[in-house]
Amino acid sequence: MNILNEITTKYVNLTSTIITLVTIGLITVITIIAYGLERRIDDKSPIYFKLPVHLAEGAVLAGSMIILQKTFLVLNNGSVNNGWLYANAQLTILLYAMYLLRNKIILLINLLMPFAYHQSANIQRLGSSRWPYFLISYIFLVAIIIYIYWQTDSLKDSTIKYLTLQILYGAAWWILLWVDHSFPFYNIFNMLIVFVIYMAIIRYCEHKMQLTLNGYDTLKKVVNYDELTGIRNRSSLDKNSKEIYKQYSHEDDVPLSMAMFDIDHFKLFNDKYGHSTGDEVLRHVAHTMDRELYLKKTHGQIFRFGGEEFIIVFRGKTAEECKPIITDLRNTLLHSPLFFNGMRLNVSVSFGISELKPTDSGFADLFNRVDSYLYKSKNAGRNKMTIENVTYDFDKTE
Ligand code: GH3
Ligand code: MG
Ligand code: MG
Repeated sequence: MNILNEITTKYVNLTSTIITLVTIGLITVITIIAYGLERRIDDKSPIYFKLPVHLAEGAVLAGSMIILQKTFLVLNNGSVNNGWLYANAQLTILLYAMYLLRNKIILLINLLMPFAYHQSANIQRLGSSRWPYFLISYIFLVAIIIYIYWQTDSLKDSTIKYLTLQILYGAAWWILLWVDHSFPFYNIFNMLIVFVIYMAIIRYCEHKMQLTLNGYDTLKKVVNYDELTGIRNRSSLDKNSKEIYKQYSHEDDVPLSMAMFDIDHFKLFNDKYGHSTGDEVLRHVAHTMDRELYLKKTHGQIFRFGGEEFIIVFRGKTAEECKPIITDLRNTLLHSPLFFNGMRLNVSVSFGISELKPTDSGFADLFNRVDSYLYKSKNAGRNKMTIENVTYDFDKTE
């Protein structure tokens, strides 16, 4: 009965419930930040891009600590007594941020927190007889924090490792708290159990959230990418074109070019060998072009516009600069026949290429020009490219 009473007064009361809800709210914010901001940067991102993200993440963590503390103090009439769940909530958020937001500012906050938390930013503990405990457990905590920082990825896959480090992290912290707040030493064990349960609930919620966010990513992929070939689709081009036009129509000295190509006599593949062979030809052309654009570092972005028509957008290139790239793409396709169902299929394409001009009133003007140039290449006998209204035969050197 006594134990039940203790549990009820300590954990099942309004303060604890509100602290738990606030913690879940803060965890949600950190998770959204992690998936929204952190994913936009990687180790190769420039520092001026990385630093604001890391600072924002640090501010969110520091803000979370303050919000949690203020909430608890208001609920507890300004006293830190009975702050079991509050302390565990703080530790949970600190550790959670370490796992999810891997940056040096989060690391620093974790390392400095034992000097900053409520009522302990004084040097009284040095005068206390327990200061060696403080020192030893602090060094221990630093080692664990640094280990977690370097090993985050391997911890994600191993529950045993994750649990062990969590217990060690909690133990180091609860000894630090014991140094400052005199409570019976055995309570550290109770607190550790509560901490582990708390972290387990949070980890479960995070896992669920991650699945939902990944589902959203898949949806985005389905919307922007062509199902048959896997390259970007027309809807993606439409979305990009507005932004591209806005950017490049104002940049007088940075050119933008567009190439459109269409497979020659594609209908014959369907009619002669069947629709599935036609599909295979489409995949083959899309993959060959996409790979070549990437391998030759052309910065060209390819889209399947529809049927057997494709568009390539070249940022920072004039139509003239596109000429050797397009010739190269065409030659690669010529020398990479498709071997399918025991057949060897050669595919040729026709191109139309043009550059965005200051007189263009929108992306549609460029598109219409490119479309008419492609038509010109077709009329000139196919397997040709038309650049700014001049048609070239690939096999004749100009
Ligand atoms: P041209 O050289 O003038 O471009 O002639 P073409 O035969 O390539 O062009 P046409 O426009 O006459 O035919 C295009 C065909 O592409 C018609 C359509 O059935 C087929 N097609 C469109 N989308 C797909 C697809 O996803 N898979 C397959 N297998 N065929 C498709
Ligand atoms: Mg065609
Ligand atoms: Mg066509």
